[in-house]
Amino acid sequence: MTTKIIHFMVNGRLEQAEFGANNSAADVKDLFRAAAEAGSNHILKLYDTNGSVVKISPRLEANSEDSYYRLEVVASDLQSVGMPTELDDMESRLQHLESKVMEDVGKTPDIIDELKSQVESFKRKLESVQHLNWMGLFHKDSDHHRSKFSKKPTTSHLSVDEERQQVRKNFTIMSSLQMTEKVREHLKTPNFDNWQWEEAEMLVLLQVMFTDLDFLMVFHIELDVLQNFLFEVYCHYNSIPFHNFHHCFCVTQMMYGLIWLTDLRSRLPRLDLLIMLTSALCHDLDHPGYNNVFQINAQTDLAIRYNDISPLENHHCAVAFGILSKPECNILKNLSSEQYRLIRGGMIRCILATDMARHNEILNKFKSIQPAFDFNNKEHKEVLMKIMVKVSDISNEARPMAVAEQWLDCLLQEFFNQSDTEKLKGLPVAPFMDRDKVSKPSSQTSFIRFVLLPLFSELTKLFPCLEQHILEPVRQALEYYSTLERAGKDEEPTTKA
Ligand code: 5GP
Ligand code: MN
Repeated sequence: MTTKIIHFMVNGRLEQAEFGANNSAADVKDLFRAAAEAGSNHILKLYDTNGSVVKISPRLEANSEDSYYRLEVVASDLQSVGMPTELDDMESRLQHLESKVMEDVGKTPDIIDELKSQVESFKRKLESVQHLNWMGLFHKDSDHHRSKFSKKPTTSHLSVDEERQQVRKNFTIMSSLQMTEKVREHLKTPNFDNWQWEEAEMLVLLQVMFTDLDFLMVFHIELDVLQNFLFEVYCHYNSIPFHNFHHCFCVTQMMYGLIWLTDLRSRLPRLDLLIMLTSALCHDLDHPGYNNVFQINAQTDLAIRYNDISPLENHHCAVAFGILSKPECNILKNLSSEQYRLIRGGMIRCILATDMARHNEILNKFKSIQPAFDFNNKEHKEVLMKIMVKVSDISNEARPMAVAEQWLDCLLQEFFNQSDTEKLKGLPVAPFMDRDKVSKPSSQTSFIRFVLLPLFSELTKLFPCLEQHILEPVRQALEYYSTLERAGKDEEPTTKA
């Protein structure tokens, strides 16, 4: 068996881990968890020398002592009180006192017996409420607790329902953890790498977004209602290559980042921010993996229900309000009917605006108001909100190259699935979805040139600070894919020969 040595820094110590490819992912995670002395529900991340998160897995690349990884606990219990340690201290001080008194007096005074039994009874009480780990009382988990999570089976053989319940359980356990300031800040940038986070962790991050924008306080959202809502949203995204919960997370995270980068908190009412973030979250709910053109050509139930008018976007929005209609998931339930009406109207507008068939209509409208943009003008504001959701929706290329490239693979996989089905059914096939006609570079150069750059540069006119965050990375991606495209063309005669 070949093993590899991984060097990493944790809590200021340089450590080594040794494992081989036949170790399970759970074993490797346990190993790092033990090294960080982390609880079984805490979230750990490993950073490389560039500060990027790398996946903790048996396939982790070996390194040398001077290119060590950094292991960090990024979410742990609130450290409000250190009760158990204090209790242990108290117990040992009592024992010490008791032995001293025994030496002097020859017997244990009643007062010490009383104190001992009080400490004992308090310990028993604490043990019986150990599940309330949100109190921050139980930094280190009992063995029983640890084994329950670390030996969790790999999710692959679980049914969809079992997998969701597992996510729900982990989300509930993790939702009380405190994310580090570093992660909370990173979450506000387009550099965030979604691929390093599991579903339950993403739900916690979504909760952080709602919390850090003060939505819970301003809109009187109860934490358990928010958690039920987020979990239902997660359940209503399908396991398809692209339009899945990871896409939902990315779009919402980009929206969140844009809100902070452009300081929209000081320019728009909180209600509008809630509309934008929730629209991003819900914008592709129950996406079937086949686009509107397919729905219309195949005369699907959705196309029939919505008379060929943005069938998917109408459906995403209807599913969103279906979730909100359940009282236990209704994050809007403590709002006035006027506020509800405004949010519903806003979300419908923002989600329907994500139909790319309306791209030019919306961009042109934004261009026309741009020179005299006024944040207090209702019409201007509504167009901006649509643009913000649209930008977030198609922002993968604004992310680090490695993150974006994986997204492109997912998108093409979904496109190819659709065009394969269309070929089988004898339906029209769009060239950009056809596996015989499309390549990664050709797909991206035209999308970046004709869709992303015109849209992103228009928004950058209003918020110049976005240039470095979204426009520059997209320009670089264009350069990268243009080079690849040219190289591909140069090679063509040889490959064909
Ligand atoms: P969505 O379906 O996610 O609501 O709308 C975005 C649409 O824009 C996608 O379905 C896809 O057609 C297109 N799109 C988004 N990102 C990219 C990309 O990076 N490359 C290409 N070629 N198309 C994209
Ligand atoms: Mn989308």
